[in-house]
Amino acid sequence: MKRAGKNKSGLFVLWSLSFVIFSLTSSSFSSLPGDRARENILASWGQRQEFESFLASKRAAIVQEYMEFLAIPNVAADRENMRRNALFIQAMLERRGVRASLIEQEGCPPLVCGELVVPGASKTLLLYAHYDGQPVNPSEWTSPPWKPVLRDGLLEEGGKEIPVSVLEKSSGEEFRLYARSASDDKAPIMAVAAALDFLRSRSLELSINVKFLFEGEEEAGSPHLLGLLEKNKSLLSGHGILLCDGPVHQTRRPQIVFGARGMLDLEMTVYGPKRALHSGHYGNWAPNPAALLANLLATMRDSRGKILIENFYGDVVPLTAEERQAIAEAPQIDALLLQEFELAWSEDQKYRLEQRIMLPAMNIRGLESGHVEEKAANAIPTEAKASVDFRLVPHQTPQKVRELVEKHFLKQGFHIVDSTPDRETRLKHPRLVKLEWGEGYPPARTPMSAPFAKAVVHSLEKVAGPSLIKMPSLGGSIPMRGIMDVLEIDAILLPIVNHDNNQHGPNENLRLQNLWEGIALFSSLFAGLGKHWL
Ligand SMILES: [Zn+2]
Repeated sequence: MKRAGKNKSGLFVLWSLSFVIFSLTSSSFSSLPGDRARENILASWGQRQEFESFLASKRAAIVQEYMEFLAIPNVAADRENMRRNALFIQAMLERRGVRASLIEQEGCPPLVCGELVVPGASKTLLLYAHYDGQPVNPSEWTSPPWKPVLRDGLLEEGGKEIPVSVLEKSSGEEFRLYARSASDDKAPIMAVAAALDFLRSRSLELSINVKFLFEGEEEAGSPHLLGLLEKNKSLLSGHGILLCDGPVHQTRRPQIVFGARGMLDLEMTVYGPKRALHSGHYGNWAPNPAALLANLLATMRDSRGKILIENFYGDVVPLTAEERQAIAEAPQIDALLLQEFELAWSEDQKYRLEQRIMLPAMNIRGLESGHVEEKAANAIPTEAKASVDFRLVPHQTPQKVRELVEKHFLKQGFHIVDSTPDRETRLKHPRLVKLEWGEGYPPARTPMSAPFAKAVVHSLEKVAGPSLIKMPSLGGSIPMRGIMDVLEIDAILLPIVNHDNNQHGPNENLRLQNLWEGIALFSSLFAGLGKHWL
């Protein structure tokens, strides 16, 4: 994975990574209290019966079409197949009456755009997903990654391959469709297409105009996306955007997320003697860079994760009452996470996970100096390195955080350099630290009180009722803000896939109940959003 900072618009790599972490940790969550795997969130939806009879007649056809889509290899660098994917999506959309086109640019897969103009609709919703997938190592897969296989359950639980025709008789909630990108991230594209089929089959009008935006380079860091958006601003204008990627909550309850943390990364190098010195002959005399660095890090963050840098929390905006309420309503999973990770404590037990990820964080992601264990030498090392990533929350900015951190280092008596110090500099400054900053990107947050947010919640709760989890922000980081700034609109994340989907890994899969629920969620959005979006 490229270092976020170094790549100007490493857009969603961290997104999917942050969601990978979610999915990795959740295989054991199917036994969560209130686990609704056995319930049907559609129970309270007014269209439920219509929808289930639609599904009964269409399930097999939907999965068949999806398997054709999944059978096209989709690694961003594979230009020929990426074009085949883009043309497949264009045809999928056109079959549903969507005016679709490919925005092509040298050096990147096509951006697939589509537009559905609805007479009388006053609002336009943009909908983003990506059709490229993570590279694969076929030898690690049970069945080839681009030869989609339907199984009647999880491989690990003895799931057996079955023909699609089984879906003519069975709703297949717990069936799993195995293929690269079955979950990350072709699923929302298929769910959206099937939602249009459902509405049309019941002559249900859309209440909004919809513009589709399907990218083919997300897993490669989306290096061209913001530029393409900038160039096609008028074509892609709208009133709000849904970013459709990632898994639902570990309890299998649907969730929407109103923001993401920003990110800034830093490589620090503290210097000691020009060459490694005998710790016996020179200990307590020659400055030890490892000790200097350890002391410096301890002045930045305490053992409970509190950042000690002066004024670091100065720009942090407190959560609104609505955001606090949303977190309070989300299922508590701390105890299970501690079990899962075999941890006796979390950094600040007064607060639950969802509260902690609403604050900025300083993560020490790596330390390096001298050697340890059998390689250890009784020497004072020449330098010590630390790799740090900061997570930012509204209204922090990467620039301001950088200033505060550098001010802190100066206050600690360090002289800052941005390249390896020469002899003169080393002889002049007792404490030297080289800093290599990533570019980072700011946090994003759509207020839950925003008309777009309220309308989306209203439409989704029509389907999911009170089981819809509303999360003010993702703990992970994606430069969601980049899209919001270029297109000047609010953004909301709407994941639909199952958390235990192995995304990015071998045997990626999609649980069919998540696909069915995804189709229902998009159907309700398209049909109802305009009525509540003031
Ligand atoms: Zn993704």
